[in-house]
Amino acid sequence: MSTVSPEAVRRVVELVVREVAGRTASDSATGDGCLGDGIFADMDSAIVAADTAWRAYLDCSMKERARFVAVIREVSLVPEHLERMARGAVEETGMGNVADKIAKNRAAAELTPGTEDLVTEAWSGDEGLTTVEISPFGVIGAITPTTNPTETIINNAIGMLAAGNAVVFSPHPRATNISHWLIRELNRALVAAGAPPNLIVTVAEPSIENTNAMMQHKLVRLLVATGGPGIVQAVLSSGKKAIGAGAGNPPALVDASADIAKAAKDIVDGASFDNNLPCTAEKEVIAVESVTDLLKFEMLRHGAYELRDPALIARLADLVVDGRHAVTGWIGKDAPVILRAIGVEPPPGVRLIIAEVPFDHPFVRVELMMPVLAIVRAKDLEQAMDLAVIAEHGNRHTAIMHSSDVNALTRMAKRIQTTIFVKNGPSYAGIGIGGEGYCTFTIAGPTGEGLTSARSFARRRRCVLVGGLNVR
Ligand code: NAD
Repeated sequence: MSTVSPEAVRRVVELVVREVAGRTASDSATGDGCLGDGIFADMDSAIVAADTAWRAYLDCSMKERARFVAVIREVSLVPEHLERMARGAVEETGMGNVADKIAKNRAAAELTPGTEDLVTEAWSGDEGLTTVEISPFGVIGAITPTTNPTETIINNAIGMLAAGNAVVFSPHPRATNISHWLIRELNRALVAAGAPPNLIVTVAEPSIENTNAMMQHKLVRLLVATGGPGIVQAVLSSGKKAIGAGAGNPPALVDASADIAKAAKDIVDGASFDNNLPCTAEKEVIAVESVTDLLKFEMLRHGAYELRDPALIARLADLVVDGRHAVTGWIGKDAPVILRAIGVEPPPGVRLIIAEVPFDHPFVRVELMMPVLAIVRAKDLEQAMDLAVIAEHGNRHTAIMHSSDVNALTRMAKRIQTTIFVKNGPSYAGIGIGGEGYCTFTIAGPTGEGLTSARSFARRRRCVLVGGLNVR
C-alpha cells in the first residue's frame, strides 16, 4: 500500500482552501501580487500568501515559534531600529515625540507576552484524558492606528505569531511608510531564522477599500481592530469573530487624601507622554475643590502651563475641536507649537497645557489626544466620582485615581468599570511602563478581552482520549 506524504496532503488542502476563497491554484502566494518581504500589490494576494504561510507554520514546533517571537523582539530592539521607528512615525504622521515613542516601542518588544501565555488545561479520570489547548485561528486581519503605528504592529505580531497565526496588517494610510519598513524588516529576519515567508503581510497601498476587502475575505478568520469608534463598529458588523479595541477618554480623579505633589507630577508625566496620543493617557482631571489650587500649582512646577484667560481658552477650543472630534492637524502636536498657534510664547520646558473649565466644556467631552488637559473642580468626592464616570463615556477603557483612601479607590473602580484602573501613578503604568504586568497596545474594552495577549488571538480546542493515560 502506498503512503501519502504530509507535503502532498498540505498541497491538496491548499487547493481546497483556494477553491473556497474563489481563487485558483495558479494564484501562487509568491506570484504576481508579491512585491517582496511581506508587501503585496493587492489584499487578496496578501491574504492568500498569509494563509499559505500559516499552513506551513502549523508544522513548526513550539520551540520554533518561541524563537520566531524572540526574533521579532530582537529586530525591534536594535537601537537604530527603535530610533528609526520613533523618528519615522513622528515625521510621517506629524504626531507625538521621538523619546516617548522609543519607550513605547521598547515596551511593546520587551513586555508583550509570547508562547508562555498559552497554558493547556487538562482533566484526567476514569474515562481517560481530556485537554483544552490554545490553538491558532489561522489568518488574522489586524487594523492599526496612526497614534501607535509600529508599537501596535510589534505588539500584535508577537501575540498573534506566538499563538500560531499569520497576520495581515491594515495600517493607517498616514503611517504607511513606517509600517512597511517594519513589516519588511520583520519578514526578512523571520525568514532568515527559518520561519515560513509571509507570516506578517500587508498591502502596498493601505486604504479603507483594502481594509473592507480584508474584513470580507473568506480566509481571514479573526479581525482585530485598534482604533476609533468607526473601525470598531465596522469589524463588529463584519459577521466574523472580532476583537474591538476602541477609543477612551480617561479621567484622572484626585481626592483630598492624595499626595498632591506626586499626583501632579504623575498626571503631567502621563498626560504629556507621547504628546497625549495613547488611548490610555489622562484626558481630563476631576479634582475635589479643596485640593484643586494646590494640584494646579504643583503641575506648573512639573512642566504644565496654565491658560487662565477665558478668551485664550475659547481661541484654543476653536482651533483644536471640531464638533465632537479633535482637529486632526493638532493631534499629537508639541505643547509649545499649540501655544504659539494661539499667540502665546511658551516658557522653556512646557510639555502640557492645562485649563480649568466647566464640566460641559469640549476639552472634557472630546478625546483630544494632544497635550491640552482640562481641569474640573468638583465640590466633593461623590461629585468627582459622578463626573469622572460621565466623562469616561462608558468606553470601559481607562481611569486613573490619586487617593490614599482604599475604600474610595475600590468604590471608584467598581463604579467606572474601566478595563484599566491606575491608582497613584501615571496612566502609562497601566500598560506596563513603570507599572507591574505585561504590555499591550490593543486594549479591547468593547469586546471584553481587555489587555490582549497571545491567548486572546487563539481558539480553545478540546482533545479527548477515551479510556487511556489515566495513571492515578
Ligand atoms: P482611526 O479610527 O482613525 O483609525 C484606526 C484604523 O482604522 C486605521 O488603520 C484606519 O485606516 C482604519 N479605519 C478607520 N475607519 C475605518 C473605516 N470606516 N473602514 C475601514 N477602516 C477604517 O484611529 P486613529 O486616529 O488612527 O487612532 C486613534 C484612535 O484609536 C483613538 O480613538 C484611540 O483612543 C484609539 N485607540 C485605541 C486603542 C485601544 O487599545 N483601545 C489603542 C490605540 C488607539
